[in-house]
Amino acid sequence: MKVVYEIQSIKHELANISGEIGFVPTMGALHEGHISLVKHALEDKVYTVVSIYVNPTQFNSKEDLKNYPRNFDKDISVLEKTGCNLVFLPDDNQMYPEPDFRKFDFGFLEKTMEGTHRPGHFNGVAKIVTKLFDIVKPSRAYFGLKDFQQLAIIQKLVKDYNYPVKIVSCPIVREKDGLAMSSRNQLLGKKERFAAPMIYETLQYAKNTIKKKSIPELKIDIENIFNTQKILRLEYFEVVDDLTLEPVSDYLANNSLTACIAVWAGNVRLIDNVQLNS
Ligand code: AMP
Repeated sequence: MKVVYEIQSIKHELANISGEIGFVPTMGALHEGHISLVKHALEDKVYTVVSIYVNPTQFNSKEDLKNYPRNFDKDISVLEKTGCNLVFLPDDNQMYPEPDFRKFDFGFLEKTMEGTHRPGHFNGVAKIVTKLFDIVKPSRAYFGLKDFQQLAIIQKLVKDYNYPVKIVSCPIVREKDGLAMSSRNQLLGKKERFAAPMIYETLQYAKNTIKKKSIPELKIDIENIFNTQKILRLEYFEVVDDLTLEPVSDYLANNSLTACIAVWAGNVRLIDNVQLNS
């Protein structure tokens, strides 16, 4: 496995690759969720490139950027064991040698859920993903369904800019108690970590109840569940159409729907989702 730090070096390495390139962009502090994306790429028999870069433009809070876990040495040794081919570990000077003023417009896809609660987040995601796609030129790129709205935005980005990249969506990897794996989980205090499985339990409740109650009734139930305790604070719960991300108020068996949730556990923000029709 090669590790490169500069754009020039990665371009040089990739110039000699004749087969397909599979790309897994990450922000590091790798866990089994990230590794599952790498494994999907390796199973596809593509030359597998993983990037590790904590992208400042997608953070809407300086505090969150400062606290974001970083453990690049450990990440490299974890990746080495997977059989991944190349790791790209650029710094800010490489990725943003000068301010990037680009503005992307994803229409309604960015005007809901994460887009509303994290202003500028998806614009920053689009900045870094376009830069990385232009450098790596992958034919396949692997993203986790954990970031369900991000996946919808990336699909739109690829269509709008005609990137010749197949976006492969990979299932959410969870801890034994159901908590979706996330780099931010390591920032949780003991009490918060103990309470956090309630997030997935709530999504399962939604899945089991969706045909029995109206969605507004379900939302009230979920608010009540969170009001019975003090450790987790519900930011939003939405049932949305998988393709348009429009909120849905009635369950329709024909539409593909996803329940999405964002929760504060102390000062750590966690998101999760579950497909309701599967
Ligand atoms: P991040 O490092 O958080 O930017 O995530 C990098 C990629 O890993 C994104 O495509 C995420 O959706 C994906 N990912 C993060 N957590 C998980 C998980 N628990 N299961 C599957 N994919 C994940």
